Amino acid sequence: MSYYKYSEHLKRRYGVKTYKIPVNVEVTCPNRDGNLGTEGCFFCGETGAVFENTEHKRTVIKQINSLKENIAEKYNAEKFIAYFQNFSNTYLPLEDLKKYVKKAAQVEDVVEVCFSTRPDCISDNYLKELNNLIEENDLDINLTLELGLQTVNYHTLKDINRKHTLAEFINAVMIAHKYDIKVGVHLILNLPGDTMDDVIENAKVISALKVDNIKLHALYIRKNTQFAEMYENGEIKLESKEEYINRVLTFLEYLSPDIAVQRLLGRAPEEETLFVNWGNHWAQIHQKILNKMNKINFKQGSKYNYLDGKALRNID
Ligand code: SF4
Repeated sequence: MSYYKYSEHLKRRYGVKTYKIPVNVEVTCPNRDGNLGTEGCFFCGETGAVFENTEHKRTVIKQINSLKENIAEKYNAEKFIAYFQNFSNTYLPLEDLKKYVKKAAQVEDVVEVCFSTRPDCISDNYLKELNNLIEENDLDINLTLELGLQTVNYHTLKDINRKHTLAEFINAVMIAHKYDIKVGVHLILNLPGDTMDDVIENAKVISALKVDNIKLHALYIRKNTQFAEMYENGEIKLESKEEYINRVLTFLEYLSPDIAVQRLLGRAPEEETLFVNWGNHWAQIHQKILNKMNKINFKQGSKYNYLDGKALRNID
C-alpha cells in the first residue's frame, strides 16, 4: 500500500518534520463581496472554509507564536508553514500581502508562507512583486499557494456558483510555475453532478499541470448554505461512503506519484452541518481507505500512463 504523503514530502523538502500553522487575517472573497457575486459557492459558509473566524483580530506574529510551541511539542515539528487559510487571501491589496509575508518571515523556524486563494485571484504582477519582495529582502522563506478548484468539470463549477471556470485555474498554475511557486489544489470528489469520469479527469489535469500537492474533501453540507437548502428540499443527492472511497482510490491511481497528498477527506463539526462524512468520525473513513489500500496492494500512480504521447506507435 502506498500513496505519497504530504508529511513525507515536507520532510524531503525541509529536512525535518514541518507543520502548518493556520493564520487568519481580515479578508473576504470576490464571490461574496459583490465583485463577482454575493452568494458564495454553494458549499461555503459565511466564515469561509473555517468554522470560526475571530483569530484575525490578533497579529500574524502572535497567531503563529501562540500555536508554534504546542504544535512543536505535540507533533515533534521543527519547522513551520504560516498557512493563511481562510477566504481568498490574495484578494487582499498587494501591500497587505507583502506585509504579511514579511511578518511571517520574522518568526523563527517559519520556512514557508502559504496563501490559500481562488484561481482568479492570482495575477502575474502580484506573484512577481511577492517574489521580488522575498529576493530583495533576502527573506529565507518559500512562497506557496493553495488553490480552490474543487473539480475540473466546468459545468459543475457553474452549478455550484464558483464564478470561475477551469481556464482561470490553468492560468493561475502557469503563472505560479513561471515564478517557481509551488501549488496545492483543493478538490471535492463527490460534488453533485460529478461522476467517476470527472474524478479521473481531475487526476489527469492535476498531473498534467504538475502541481505540488492536493487536498481531497468529501462534500459536507454546512448549515445556512445554498447546498443546505437544496439538501433539505431533496434537490441534491450525495453519493455513498463506499462510492467516495472508490473515488479516492481511483483518483490516486491516476495521479502522478510525484504529487503529494495532504488529505484524503476533510472534517467539520457536526453541530455546524446537516451532513458530514456519513455520520462517521473522519478518522474511521480514513482508516477504511487505508485498509482497502492494504488489501489490494495499492500504489499511487499505477494508472499514470496517459501523458507524453500515449497514442504514439513504437517506431524505432
Ligand atoms: S471562493 Fe472560497 S471563500 Fe469564496 S465563496 Fe467560494 S469557497 Fe467561499
